[in-house]
Order: sequence, then structure tokens, then C-alpha cells
Amino acid sequence: MNAVFDITILEGTATAGTGAYMTQIDYSVGGELATSGIASEIDAEALYEKCMVLAHNLWWSWQPEVTNLFRDIDPIRWRQLDHNPIALLREFTPDRLAIRASEMVLHSRVNYAYRRLHEYLESSNTWAQTNAGVLGSKPVAYFSAEFGLHESLPVYSGGLGVLSGDHVKSASGLGVPLVGIGLYYSHGYFKQALSGDGYQKEEYFETKVEDLPLEAALLPDGTPLVVGIDTRNGRLLAKVWRVQVGRVRLFLLDCNVEGNRPEDRELTSRLYGGDERTRIRQELVLGVGGVRALRALGITPGAYHLNEGHSAFAPLEVIRERMFDDGMSFDDACREVSQATIFTTHTPVPAGHDRFSGALIEEHLGPLRDLLGISHDHLMSIGRVQTSDPNEPFCMTVIGLKLSRTANAVSQLHGHISRRMWRSLWPQREENNIPIGHITNGVHIESWLAGQMQQLYDRHFPANWKTHMGEPDVWQFIHSVDPGELWETHNALKNLLLSFVRRRVSRQCRRRGESDEIIEAARSVLSPNVLTIGFGRRFATYKRANLIFSNLDRIAGLINNPDRPVQLIFAGKAHPKDEPGKRFIQEIANLRHDSRFAGKVAFIEDYDINVCRHLIQGVDVWLNNPRRPLEASGTSGQKTVLNGGLNCSILDGWWAEAYDGSNGFAIGKGTSHSEDRITDTRDSDYLYETLEQSVIPTFYDRDRDGLPRSWIKMMMNSISTLAWRFSSHRMVMDYTRVAYVPASGGLSCEIKVR
Ligand SMILES: *Cc1c(COP(=O)(O)O)cnc(C)c1O
Repeated sequence: MNAVFDITILEGTATAGTGAYMTQIDYSVGGELATSGIASEIDAEALYEKCMVLAHNLWWSWQPEVTNLFRDIDPIRWRQLDHNPIALLREFTPDRLAIRASEMVLHSRVNYAYRRLHEYLESSNTWAQTNAGVLGSKPVAYFSAEFGLHESLPVYSGGLGVLSGDHVKSASGLGVPLVGIGLYYSHGYFKQALSGDGYQKEEYFETKVEDLPLEAALLPDGTPLVVGIDTRNGRLLAKVWRVQVGRVRLFLLDCNVEGNRPEDRELTSRLYGGDERTRIRQELVLGVGGVRALRALGITPGAYHLNEGHSAFAPLEVIRERMFDDGMSFDDACREVSQATIFTTHTPVPAGHDRFSGALIEEHLGPLRDLLGISHDHLMSIGRVQTSDPNEPFCMTVIGLKLSRTANAVSQLHGHISRRMWRSLWPQREENNIPIGHITNGVHIESWLAGQMQQLYDRHFPANWKTHMGEPDVWQFIHSVDPGELWETHNALKNLLLSFVRRRVSRQCRRRGESDEIIEAARSVLSPNVLTIGFGRRFATYKRANLIFSNLDRIAGLINNPDRPVQLIFAGKAHPKDEPGKRFIQEIANLRHDSRFAGKVAFIEDYDINVCRHLIQGVDVWLNNPRRPLEASGTSGQKTVLNGGLNCSILDGWWAEAYDGSNGFAIGKGTSHSEDRITDTRDSDYLYETLEQSVIPTFYDRDRDGLPRSWIKMMMNSISTLAWRFSSHRMVMDYTRVAYVPASGGLSCEIKVR
């Protein structure tokens, strides 16, 4: 039997955003039913209110039952509205919602979800209760320039944001007391559309605050909080939004306030937009404004976690607080504050480390510096490697490293690279004694695991597996799953991915005004029986999205092999200023005009959390071929693991420590040449070899039942060895033990190399 599944049997079990859900239900409401009298007015109000409460806590986004509940209210609008429950509910009156709920028998599901949310919020039986008691009422303040929680809250661009979102969700799940601090970007990052010739166009849309789960943060007297930050050039104001993420509060600062100059009202409108001056002003608001917001709200953090250098001005404001509150000297306050600060560096790519001129620093930090009582040169020296080199700019990573007790990279290999990269900050130390450890990134399992896969785990894992997701034991039960059942579940998910791709690709053709024939052809791209390789991530050039096309004849041969064909799905945005990245996109998108690739290589526009979720849940293989060692960690491959997809990756970032020979595929031997051109040629050869000699033969090696036994064994090995280890639960437990607890005054302990 060759596993082909009719997707209709899956209807109703599709998870959020699998999108392939096709409703047969006539969702028009009103008419006769409106007079049926099922819903009394009071019930209607109460039901509406409960749905709104659910929609205002992002907890819903990692509960498949609650997501399905929202979808069932109106499956078509749900998809059109980017899976945004508040926008959806706002299209209903309480009465219309009550009627719809009666038709779909949603009342008990709403009540049940509502009860579960409150049980979750009130439960004190958490991992942190027993393991991080010392944090007590003093939460960790977690600063990040982006938070990727869900596609409907577009305040993220890529991996860093999704990591912050997953961090916050796991802190909630584990009960770690933590508050997030970020910025509210009313236009988010851009939406990507390709023109007829495959070139990326960026479009910015204003998100309506009323459609988002944002509440104005209020002062104790009930007035909305506005924080002010002085610069040499006038005052910057920011209001503060509160987002509830399970048990965790996230505060987002927003400069669109009356009282700001018109150009400053736009300051936080775009993520990673604008020039250096915009950048330093955003970072001033995030770091200094963020600390002020916490204080105004009466929150006294026990530890400060700076996720990447963007927020590294924060400790300066905390130092000022100590000096004013406790009469400390600058030096003493500095020492004290760094004891409570944790800094995480995220990239070995030089452009990823913000550097600012002395003039920009003076303009923006001058007034704070006056309060700190230090000279301009002194302040600059804190952001420099060579403290007295007047030509060296102020680097956010350098101040982050200097003002933190614990600094870490995000994978074992990235730890080595970071120690080498920053060794000149500690000239008297040997490289392996540079105080930068590592905590490898992980992903929030419940957010990335497909509903069907979760049901499979529910059937075969111990009942309490979800409270032990970050530990190895429960995952061993994957080996007792029937191989056919695992394979069927995977293929069902693959079918959902293929219908998603077809829908998106035909929509793209329609938007570009292409012919009916082309649109029709787009509805049947890709095939369910073919080995499907996915690649989705930012189109930063070091990620080499086009590596697999280095030799067009060779890849065309693999794709068109009649016995063992291959198909490819790509998605990703290039930064608006990254011309080479845009050319990579163009090159790949235009392959659809080449008959060897048409219908077999698809490019999905506007990569976001939703597109990523579809891809990583349905591919057979997730391809990752960065130029080593530039991928600090990478997390998308970790999401694939959870759903049974196999990684095929360069031994870089997380994969360098994850690959064990039996849980996926390695490209090359973990080496690179000092000349990029040579590295790229070698790596493309390795890539083809891995595909030709390992990936393709293993996938097509079937037994009498049509099952690829060795492949399924590899899927099981991948799940059992990797799922827990590269989960954000494990990651947040590590941060808690080695960083948060010691910083809050618990026992100190060194960051150990995992
Ligand atoms: C997970 C994720 C990423 C990170 O992918 P990498 O492999 O780390 O580059 C980027 N963007 C989105 C939308 C994601 O969900």
C-alpha cells in the first residue's frame, strides 16, 4: 500500500492554520434561526464575553481545541483574517454569535475552554514552584526587540522574534515568573509580494489596535502609563501596551503618542526600518523606556535578561535607579546591576551587532549620562573593545557583555565562535576561559506540534507527557508507536501542506494577473507521493537558499527522476535593503518558467509564522545549508522534528550538536574554507551527494506494505533524541537554573557546556 490519504477524512481535526480545512457548512447566519429563541440575550452576552476573554490571552494560540473553536465560528473569515480571533469576533454581535454557536454546538466547548484557561492561570503546581522558588515575587524582566507569538500579532520578523515568543510561552508553562518588554510596531515587518519578474515588493499595513489583544497598561490610579526619555534634542514619549501570554505579561512600548513630534510618532511604526538614528532611538525606548515602564507599574525585577544587544541600554537606567534609591556610587551600582543581568548574543554575523557613533550616543544618552555623573569618554569606553580608541564606535554587544554577570551564546558551536569573536575584551584570558557560555535555543512544542501528531502522542505517551515535555523519558515512547500509524499521520499532514501550497500558489498567480491556464496549473502543483523538501527562513545570503541550484542540470536530474522524484518548496523574505537576498528569491521564483522545474519547485510568498507552521508540519525533509559557522542556532529544523520531518543540514548551529548519525542527515563534515567561493562549491557537492546517496534512496526504499522502514526508524530516532532537548521548556529551565536563580541571589553556578 502506498500511503495516499484523502484529506477529507481529516476535516475537523486540522489544527490552527493548517488552512486546508474546507467547510461544507453554510456559514451564513440569521434568517429563520434568529427566531428560534435558543439563545437568550443574557446567554448571548455571556458567551460573547467568554470568547473575548479567551481571545485576549494568547494561551489560545497553543491550544488546538481553542483554535479550532474560533475557526469553527467562521472558517472562511478565520483564514481571511490571519487567524485573528478578536477581529473575527468583532464582526459578530453577541446575538449573531449565539446563533452561530447553537448551530455549531459551541457553547460547551466555549465553557470548557474558559474553565481550562482559568484553571491554568490559577494553578500554582508548576515546575518553577519547586525549582525556582527564590525568584518569588521578583520576576525576570526579559527584553527583546521582537516577539513572535502568533501571525495575528505581527511584531516580529524572524527567528529572533519567534525565539522570544517561544521563551515567553515556556516561561508561562513552567510557571517561571517573567515579564516581557518589547516594542509595538503598528506596521510590523513588511508583507512580501513578488512582482511578475519575481522581484520582492514590500508592503506595509497598519494593524488596528482594536483587533489585537492589547490593553493599555495603567498606573495604579487608572490613568494610562506614558514614559518619557530625555535626549539632548527633546523628550521622547512612549505609551505602553500589555499583552497577556498565558501567565506571563508582555509590555510593548509605542511612540505613537500625542506630545511626540510627528516624526517621533512614527518611530516605532516599523520593525528594522529606518536609519541608524531611528535604530538608536528605538533601542533607547526599548532599554531605558522599558526599565522606566516596569518601575512605574510597580514591578521590581530580580533579574534582567537582555535578549540580544538591542536592549543593552537597559542596565544604564537600572544603575541610575540604584544610585538614586540607595545612594550608591556609579561603580558600585554597576557591579551590583551586572550581578542581576543576563546577556544573550545571537549572531556571529558582524552586521548583526549594532554600532553607534559618539555623536548619536551623546545625543541620546547624554541626559542619562549626566545623571550617572560620568563623562562622555567613560560612557563610550563601556561600549568599546579598545576602551580609549576614539575611532571605535559604541557597540551594543560590548556593553551587553560588560554589564552582565552571565553571558551566553545560543548553541555549543556558537559558544566557541563567540568566545573567539570577543576574546579581546578579556585580553588576559585564554580563549576557552572567555566568560561566554551557551544555552542552545529550543522551540515551544505546543505551538509547533500539529494537532494530529499531538493526538498520536496522547495515545502512546504517558498521560502526563505534556508536563514533562522538556525531559527525555516521555519521548522514548515514540519507539512503541506502530510505524504504519506514524507514517499515515505524517502523510496526512503532508497532504494538508500540499493543499496549502496549491491554494497559495494559485492565489499568487491570480494576484499577478496571470492567465487562467497558469492559475489552473497552479492548483495542481506538487504531488503527494514525491519526496518533499522544504526550505523556509529569512533570505539572508549566508543561509544560501539557492545552494541546491548551484548545478541546475544535476538538481533537474534528481527532480525529474521518474522512479525517485523530488520536489521543493521555498519561502522567505529578504531584508528590504538586501539586494543580493532579493536576487536569490528572484532566481528561485523564476524557475517556474523553466519546464524542468515548473510544478515541482514552489515559492510561497510572505513567509510568516503561519507559512512556517504549514511547512514544518508537512515536509518530509527540512533543508538547512548556511555557510558554517554563521548560523548561530537556527530553530526551524527543531520545529520539523516534532512533526516527524527529518533534517538535512550543514553541521552548523544546533545541528552540529544534535546530529548523531541516526536521527537525520548531515551535509558535509563540519568544515569550511576561508574563501566563501570554495566553501560554497564544496558544500553544494556535499549537498547533492547527501541527497543522492542517503536521502533519496532511504525515502524510496519500501517494504511490501509500502512503508519506508529505515526512514520511519529515523523519524523515531529524531523525535526521541531531539524533541525534548531542543524544546524551549528545556531552554527556559536551563536559563532559570544557570542564570535567573543565581542572578536573583540564589546559589551561583557556572554555565556548563551541554
Ligand atoms: C522559526 C522561524 C524562523 C527561524 O528559522 P531559522 O531556521 O532559525 O532561520 C524564522 N521565521 C519564522 C516565521 C519562524 O517561525
